[in-house]
Amino acid sequence: MERRLPSVDRLLRAVPGWAGLPGPMAAMVVRRVVREWREAAMGGVAPPDFEVAVEVVRVEMELLARRRIGVVINGTGVLLHTNLGRAPLAAGVAARVAEVASSYHNLELDMETGERGGRGEFLETALALLSGAEAATVVNNCAAALVLMLRHLTGGGRREVVISRGQLVEIGGGFRVPEILETSGAILREVGTTNRTTLEDYRRAIGAGTAAVLRVHRSNFVMEGFTGEPGLGELAGLARECGVPLVEDLGSGAVVDTAQFAGLGHEPTAAESLAAGVDLVCTSGDKLFGGPQSGLIFGKRELVRGLKRDPMYRVLRCDRLAYVALQETAAMSLEAGVGRAAGGVPLMAMLGVGVEELEGRAEAVVGMARAIGGKVELEVVRSEARCGGGTMPKGVIPSVALRVTLRGVGADEAARRLRLGRVAVLGRVAGGAVLVDLRTVLPGHDGALGEMLGRLG
Ligand SMILES: *Cc1c(COP(=O)(O)O)cnc(C)c1O
Repeated sequence: MERRLPSVDRLLRAVPGWAGLPGPMAAMVVRRVVREWREAAMGGVAPPDFEVAVEVVRVEMELLARRRIGVVINGTGVLLHTNLGRAPLAAGVAARVAEVASSYHNLELDMETGERGGRGEFLETALALLSGAEAATVVNNCAAALVLMLRHLTGGGRREVVISRGQLVEIGGGFRVPEILETSGAILREVGTTNRTTLEDYRRAIGAGTAAVLRVHRSNFVMEGFTGEPGLGELAGLARECGVPLVEDLGSGAVVDTAQFAGLGHEPTAAESLAAGVDLVCTSGDKLFGGPQSGLIFGKRELVRGLKRDPMYRVLRCDRLAYVALQETAAMSLEAGVGRAAGGVPLMAMLGVGVEELEGRAEAVVGMARAIGGKVELEVVRSEARCGGGTMPKGVIPSVALRVTLRGVGADEAARRLRLGRVAVLGRVAGGAVLVDLRTVLPGHDGALGEMLGRLG
């Protein structure tokens, strides 16, 4: 045991800027690393010399600093990437959020009377208009919306929720419909079989204990072959006849016909469900709607009013930032016209952009990278993008990617280096290269992408 343990203070002083970490966090990292060296020293392992120690500490600080949520360039070709925050907000929407959030604002104030007012009346009005609903409201996410609806409806004497066995699905990220149902206190009444459920199956199951009929959209998988279930209109007719509400979890939350976008089929909308006679519909706010994390609820006025009076609504309510982001996104969609894709909503723009335009951008990015003149090899290739976020699993969107290879370096390692650049670039590894798909790169990031590729080494 020749070498002495470096002191925490000396190490801290030797790493300028601490990788951007707050002082106490940087000190914590140093103490942890020094403790490990001390323990190793007791086993006879000498601590590293000072220069190496500084380097180890700096790398550890950077590892922690990278856990800080920050901007990444999404080159995965997956538009709604749950690990990357799903839908990006429009710059104008985000600016409005920043402006309102850094000031006092009329979150719950009736400007006319100066008294306490409802939260989100503008937003609720906009959502109702977008979907043709009598009323609408929002909570934290779609899972919360479903729990709220079921809890509310099963809160009285009736506890049973009738659902087809073909819809007892897992949406992803631990969201399993049967578990959500149990959380809400509902009693599951399964009907039909995995592949087929008839109207008669539903009819036989509905009785004095039925609180609601639930339909869950199979967002993230498709069933083919010998399958069948009653149409929404038929089911709504039956529910009405039996005097029980029909509730639907639509998940993806399309507000326009997605079949207008190349490669995508039609995704059901809340407006269609309501028109077919569904009483309450919930969707995510950060999937195809293109807003912040939230759960949107649309439906009959009396039912929505009841939900808003439920104590659970207070527990699940959105924060002010989400209200502002949602209200501005909804306003953008309304200004484009009901049923028309709002180009200002980034998700709509990404879905709508043509392959030729993507090719032009890809060539420009290659030009920027070559001007820097690094070791990277770039090729513009055709690619396939996807909706992601558990929506439209069959949709394959024609796209354009940069095929990135780095001489003497494997594709996985090249992908890692791209992730660890000053601005993280996420691609997907395929065919011995990293593909950076332009459809999911925000146009404002093209310059940074070119620079990161040019500096890759
Ligand atoms: C995505 C999805 C959910 C979950 O939405 P969150 O907003 O993430 O809670 C629920 N149901 C369906 C059908 C979905 O597609």
